[in-house]
Amino acid sequence: MVHTIAIEPTTNKKPKPSGERLEFGTVFTDHMFMLDYDEGKGWHDPRIVPYQPIELDPAAKVFHYGQTVFEGLKAYLTEDQRTLLFRPNKNIERLNLSNHRLSIPALDEELVMQAISELVLIDRDWIPSEPGTSLYIRPFVFATEPLLGVAPSRQYKFMIILSVVGSYYQEGINPVSIYVEPNYVRAVTGGVGHAKTAGNYAAGLKAQEEAHEKGYSQVLWLDGVHRKYIEEVGSMNVFFKLGDTVVTPALNGSILNGVTRNSVLELLRHWNIPVEERALSIDEIAEAHRSGQLIEAFGTGTAAVISPIGALEWQENKMVIHGGTTGELSKRVYDTITGIQRGTMEDPFGWTVELSR
Ligand SMILES: *Cc1c(COP(=O)(O)O)cnc(C)c1O
Repeated sequence: MVHTIAIEPTTNKKPKPSGERLEFGTVFTDHMFMLDYDEGKGWHDPRIVPYQPIELDPAAKVFHYGQTVFEGLKAYLTEDQRTLLFRPNKNIERLNLSNHRLSIPALDEELVMQAISELVLIDRDWIPSEPGTSLYIRPFVFATEPLLGVAPSRQYKFMIILSVVGSYYQEGINPVSIYVEPNYVRAVTGGVGHAKTAGNYAAGLKAQEEAHEKGYSQVLWLDGVHRKYIEEVGSMNVFFKLGDTVVTPALNGSILNGVTRNSVLELLRHWNIPVEERALSIDEIAEAHRSGQLIEAFGTGTAAVISPIGALEWQENKMVIHGGTTGELSKRVYDTITGIQRGTMEDPFGWTVELSR
């Protein structure tokens, strides 16, 4: 290990949740990681401390101008008690891409990897072992300089917290109904859609709430210029099986470059399934549905891995996909990626990273 991370162990270990239903993102472990930035000094003082509230000046820039980014990845416990991460380098790379877009100074990627590794190992006994469970890792950066003035902050904090995740699919992998959003947009090319930054999610809440009221679990976002091309579904990337070909929207600057998206593409190519990354309009999807060529659709993201889409509503037209059930390809992709993540399936791509002291 290259860096020295100071460690203050907790003297007050919290009780661990029992294996029953756990709401995502509600239970945090005993420790957290912190790192400070000051202009002139750079990033300094890496430390692991007991999980606790933090104090911020009310003028801290993050509250006013939203200069903040985050990441999300998971640690898994294998049957033989090894601790695995899934492609952490992709998340760390993306963290710095987001930092760059938000004018936040770059983090040392080796230090971030070391911080994740040491923190997860310290709280290793929090990683649940039941199928479908994991430890969610949330790295995030925010501007702390107490100054009301629109300019990049000269002070930041980088933190990592860990949260215990129960099984996402309690009753097996289940399709969701999706509302194609005609009015609100999530992001535009040239904006911050490709960065994992808070404002994108705040801006999406209204559409999500209205979709919920209509009985849909998420929205499908169309592009901000033509309101025509498919971008993402909720906070997941999206794939459609049209005939024998799998199509996903190309990365155009407003779409987030998902690690799961990238893994699904690699997997499909490995299986010699034709894939296309290109502009994909909602009209093309409606036409494929009419002609019986819309075979499957699914969202991809770290939380659910694969979320099959059972129905899409677009302009009063309700398109049921795969009879509202999980398609064969969705299931195969889900089983393979989760199998690799948990170490129950061979990892021909070298995606998993084993943590050890
Ligand atoms: C995080 C995220 C995704 C999925 O990315 P993964 O790396 O696969 O978890 C997709 N879209 C948005 C908007 C996201 O925030």
